[in-house]
Amino acid sequence: MNAQRLLIDNVRPFDSRRGRVAPASRIIVESGRIVEITPEPRQVDDAQRIDGGGRVVLPGLIDAHVHVTATSHDLMSLALKPPSLITAESSRIMRDMLLRGFTTVRDAGGADFGLQEAVASGLFEGPRLFVAGFPVSQTGGHADMRPKGVRQREFFCTCAGLGLIGAIADGVGEVRRAVREQVRHGANQIKIMAGGGIASPSDPLEGTQFSEDELRAACEEAAAANLYAMAHAYSPRAVTRAVRAGVRSIEHGNLIDQATARVMRSEGAYLVPTLSTYLALSDEGQRLGWSAAMLDKLATVGQRGIDAVRLAVSEGVPVVFGTDLLGHMHDRQSGEFDLRLQAMNPVQALQSATLIAAQLMQQEGQLGELVAGAWADLLVVEGDPTRELSMLTRPAGLRLIVQGGRIVKNTLA
Ligand SMILES: [Zn+2]
Repeated sequence: MNAQRLLIDNVRPFDSRRGRVAPASRIIVESGRIVEITPEPRQVDDAQRIDGGGRVVLPGLIDAHVHVTATSHDLMSLALKPPSLITAESSRIMRDMLLRGFTTVRDAGGADFGLQEAVASGLFEGPRLFVAGFPVSQTGGHADMRPKGVRQREFFCTCAGLGLIGAIADGVGEVRRAVREQVRHGANQIKIMAGGGIASPSDPLEGTQFSEDELRAACEEAAAANLYAMAHAYSPRAVTRAVRAGVRSIEHGNLIDQATARVMRSEGAYLVPTLSTYLALSDEGQRLGWSAAMLDKLATVGQRGIDAVRLAVSEGVPVVFGTDLLGHMHDRQSGEFDLRLQAMNPVQALQSATLIAAQLMQQEGQLGELVAGAWADLLVVEGDPTRELSMLTRPAGLRLIVQGGRIVKNTLA
C-alpha cells in the first residue's frame, strides 16, 4: 500500500464557495494534494481506501488569528522564558489545534520560521503555519510591553523573540526597517499595531497608533515583498486610518460603526474578529491577576464584539475566523464557532474558517476549498454542519482528519 495515495470513498463534500453539501463522492489524494473529486466509481491502484459512510467532508479549518507561542497568559513572564521552553510548549499547543481540525493557522505575532519549518518537516505535529515574526509597534504601542519607568530600549534580552514583544519602530525609516527585518526572517504577513489594546500597559483602547505615513510605509514594504499587512485595531478612527493606508485585515475591530464598515468594504479589507478570547479573559481575568484597567477595557470590547460581526456581515465586509487565545485558554478555540452563531449562520461560519480565510491569506485554490489541486486538508465529521456546528467542538465529532494527505486521526475504520 502506498501511503502517498488515499481514496476517501462515500463522503459528501462541503462546497465552501457555494455554501452547500454536494452529493456523495470520492476524493482521490496523491502526494499531499487532492487530484480528483468525483461521484463516479474509481479504481485507484495502491491507494489506502477509507469509507466515509456518507458523512460530510469539510476543508481543513483555518484559524486566522492565533499566537502559538503564547504559552502563558502572562506576557511579561513569557518574555523572560527561554525560547527552548516556549518552543516545547508551543509544540503541544499546535498539536492540539490540529486535533481540533485546524489544519492551517495564521500566527499574529511570535511564531517564527523555525516553528514553521519544524511543522513542515514533520518534527512537530501542528497546523500549517503562516508566520508574522515580531509585531511592529510604535513606542508605547500595543506591543511595547515595557512597564512605565523602564527607560532602556531593549528591556528584554533579544533571545526572548518568541514572546509577543514587538519590534519597536518610530518614524517612516524605522518602520521600513522593522518590516524588512520581518521579511528577511521569512514572514508570510506583517503584523502592525494600529491602535490601543487590552493586554498592554499604557495605551488607550480608543487611541490610534503610528502616523499615517508610518502606516503607509509598513503596507508599502509588505507589498514590496508580495506580502500584506494585518493590523490590530479597535476604534473606528484606528480602523479607518489603517485600511486607507492599505492594511488588508483588521484584527479584532470590535468598536467599528457603520461608516467604518463601509470604508472597509470599499477598500476591500477583511475583518478578523476574535470573540473567544474576550469571553475567556472575562471568565478568568480577575483570577489571573489582570489589573482593573485591563478588565475595564475588556468589558468594553467584549460586549461590542458580536455587534461588530453583525455589522460586518450586513455591510458585506468579508469576515474571517480568528481566536487570539493565550496560554491554557487555547482549549476554547472551537468555542469561537458557538459565539459566531449569534451573528451568522453555520454556513457563513464555516466559510469564514475555510474559503474566506484562504482568500485573505492569498491561498485561494490551495487551502479552504475541496478542489483538485488544493492541499489535501480535510475533515470527515458527524452530523450536518450546514445546520449546526456542535460536532466541531467535541473530539468525537471529528472522525477523520487529513493534513497534506497524511492521516492525523481516523476513527472511521
Ligand atoms: Zn493577537
